Amino acid sequence: MTSDRPTPQPGIFNIDPYVPGKSNLPGTGAVIKLSSNETPFGASPKAIEAYKRASSSLQLYPDGSSQELRQAISDHHGIEADQILCGAGSDELLNLLANAYLGPGDEAIYTKHGFLVYPIAIMANGATPVVANETDFITNVDAILEKVDPKTKMVFIANPNNPTGTYIPFEEVRRLHQSLPANVVLVLDGAYAEYVHANDYKAGIELVASSNNVVMTRTFSKIYGLASLRVGWAYCPLEIADVLNRIRGPFNLSAPAIMAGAAAIKDKQFIEEARVQTRIWREWVTKQCQDLGLEVTPSAGNFVLIHFPNASEFSAHKADDFLISKRIVLRRLDNYHLANALRMTIGSADDCRATLDALTQFMDPNHQRPGF
Ligand SMILES: *Cc1c(COP(=O)(O)O)cnc(C)c1O
Repeated sequence: MTSDRPTPQPGIFNIDPYVPGKSNLPGTGAVIKLSSNETPFGASPKAIEAYKRASSSLQLYPDGSSQELRQAISDHHGIEADQILCGAGSDELLNLLANAYLGPGDEAIYTKHGFLVYPIAIMANGATPVVANETDFITNVDAILEKVDPKTKMVFIANPNNPTGTYIPFEEVRRLHQSLPANVVLVLDGAYAEYVHANDYKAGIELVASSNNVVMTRTFSKIYGLASLRVGWAYCPLEIADVLNRIRGPFNLSAPAIMAGAAAIKDKQFIEEARVQTRIWREWVTKQCQDLGLEVTPSAGNFVLIHFPNASEFSAHKADDFLISKRIVLRRLDNYHLANALRMTIGSADDCRATLDALTQFMDPNHQRPGF
């Protein structure tokens, strides 16, 4: 059948476009932006220097294989450079995986409050997203396994997950992998891996190394502070790296991105400091919210999921409006089925204090303590 207009691939009109965290507000005055899990520490000064050095040869195409960056990642993590594929953010890599392994008739599984880039990537390729329930906002391996059927081609889990902040122990990831059919790609999104302190956590390097159907994706957008440059990478079995290399853009990373990323990963001290400070302030924010009577889902990342009481005067929407009146922006989560929660990025000490002051005012101690 011919149509009188260009028609996109099936599934594309089922996609709700991704809505990023708000970044500016009407009016003047500084905004405290805690809506996109960006680091308050900026990028390493060494990464900034490398970025500036790159400005002297902007007329040249970048190295299409991102060799310098892959080598720096390889050295840092002790993994084979041939199995590393860099992307313009991990978003590009998640989409390349879906491009390569999903099509109409296929299914891909993600969790109830999983990252919204997954259903977009799944549906953009005509495949069907299948949602597995979580337990207390935590990925439930058995619930995922129950959804596996002969059409399943891919499983995405973010560990820790965004926007919940929760993680599952590596033994659970291993159990998931052992129970999946060998033709299913298991994608482990480790965007927040650097922030995790738990002893039972691993991002998945050993699972990639010992299998041919596990891919781990990582990003320079969070703890490395390079979100604006769009730098991510995937550690893949050789065969999958070969597949993705065939379909990626030939120059998918810019030279400044390659050079800044390589310098950033070498500055271990800078990252360690960010990691330690984030934990301190995450614990502080969690405790302060709890003292206000707010429930906080235990987080391993650089953000917390704050649940508001059912009483309408204390709803997440009202809290958000109140915070915005103070020029503080958190993330609304209506499109994550979490309409009565807000996600707060762990910002600088000052930003955390200002936000808690505002939340304290919102929860007005003169009111009755709201019950859940
Ligand atoms: C922020 C984030 C990413 C990173 O995306 P980039 O494209 O690398 O900036 C990936 N996955 C999750 C779950 C995230 O929250």
